[in-house]
Amino acid sequence: MNIKLQQQAKSPDKQQVDKLANWIIVMPHLLAVKTIKQIPYGEILQARRQRLGKKDADKSPIMLDLPNKTGSHISFTCIKSDISSFNLLTLARKLISAHEGHEVKELGIAVHGFSAGHPERIAEAVIAAILAAAAEMPKFKSKSKSASKLQMLHLYGVRTAHGFRRTFAEAEGNALARSLTMLPSNMLTPSDYLKRVRQLANENKWKLEFYDIKHLKKQKAGAFLAVAQGSPTEDAGIVRLQYTPAISTRKNKLILVGKGICYDTGGVNLKSANYMFGMHEDMQGSAVALGTLLALTRLKVSFPVECWMALAMNHIGPKAYKPNDVITASDGTTIEIVNTDAEGRMVLADTLAMASKQKPKLIIDYATLTGACIYSLGKAYSGIFTNKDELIPKLVEAGRDSGERVWPFPMDEDYDKSLESDIADVKQCSRESGADHILAARFLQRFVKNNTPWIHIDLASSNRKGGLAHIPTDTTGFGIRYTLNLLLDKKIL
Ligand SMILES: [Zn+2]
Repeated sequence: MNIKLQQQAKSPDKQQVDKLANWIIVMPHLLAVKTIKQIPYGEILQARRQRLGKKDADKSPIMLDLPNKTGSHISFTCIKSDISSFNLLTLARKLISAHEGHEVKELGIAVHGFSAGHPERIAEAVIAAILAAAAEMPKFKSKSKSASKLQMLHLYGVRTAHGFRRTFAEAEGNALARSLTMLPSNMLTPSDYLKRVRQLANENKWKLEFYDIKHLKKQKAGAFLAVAQGSPTEDAGIVRLQYTPAISTRKNKLILVGKGICYDTGGVNLKSANYMFGMHEDMQGSAVALGTLLALTRLKVSFPVECWMALAMNHIGPKAYKPNDVITASDGTTIEIVNTDAEGRMVLADTLAMASKQKPKLIIDYATLTGACIYSLGKAYSGIFTNKDELIPKLVEAGRDSGERVWPFPMDEDYDKSLESDIADVKQCSRESGADHILAARFLQRFVKNNTPWIHIDLASSNRKGGLAHIPTDTTGFGIRYTLNLLLDKKIL
């Protein structure tokens, strides 16, 4: 993505408006008619606004072409300045989608008439939506549509010193996560994935280690290996990436962990056709962890960051693990297998145990882990869990502020009753339905060692028909924008 941004504190004059063929205009809900009429083509905008009436201008933007030489195509809207981040991003997506098919090279954005503080927030959302729409996603049609031609954004009404650097970094991380996730599993096996990550590690000067099957056998990582043993190729493993800041002002190490199941057939407990469809996306957690690492690297954050990706396939085959098997994880915990489709918590168990041995200040894991989380929340929120209750208000607030919304679930000890096994230390999951997202989190927390503060995100909103907030594709890459808010605004580390 190579899109530049120019900023001007002033509103555009008529000449500047006439120069560009595409504009996004945002104004306050209660802007006085007199003020609207002062801006270029304000009379026309006001007339269209009146025709629409008060209803829903902030839900469906107004589209019009100006009677100038360029025939400037405008999408514009009037909003209340206290609009929620989620609604603002959703609206921003509609504002940019109105320019689809215009082959836009240069786009004007005008934020008029808001009081201090608001223009920056609004411009940020609009830029986030523009970058999300412009990102190139994998397509395999022999005659594919041409890619976005967008090169330049001309922003009027806002001038910042940071130049929306963070928004650009988040967009790059998100685009990486989405594009990896959309790759079919015949193009993104664990070894293909590793190759791509190696390339990124070279480009970004990350240290890369790959803990392959041989290494994991030495570590006695039986939980991970139980899943991996079903694959005909022994290419599963854990990728460990390390970003070290040039000047480290803080020793607080952050570890990001991601579930990277490149295809989930369910294993011996084979999924039915409808539930299996789309399971190449079961590696999205690892892609979100990677995208977050990329965004933090772009921003040159002052704390060290590691990214641990648990890469495997959940195959069916003669060697695949089975219900009633008992396996031993790297920390010595014995696990009674109940359902081979609960493979995510198996690969994460050893990954979390090994990562937490590094004594980080905080671990955040991302996983498309349970159907139960989707039943509970739908696909517009993701579920959040932590072993530190006192973090919960900040975790929720970061969701509200970033527009990538999360909701917390309980982590009380008595849930463990459902995981008691007659023959092993713990059951992998329960055969009774209900609260599997909570049981999965309770299972995982056993493997987080040294009382490390830990946040687990069950990505219910990883894929939503029609997109989510500013993201136009079904695959959302949810979690990067959220995590940056949590780290950089809520200072959770
Ligand atoms: Zn599964």
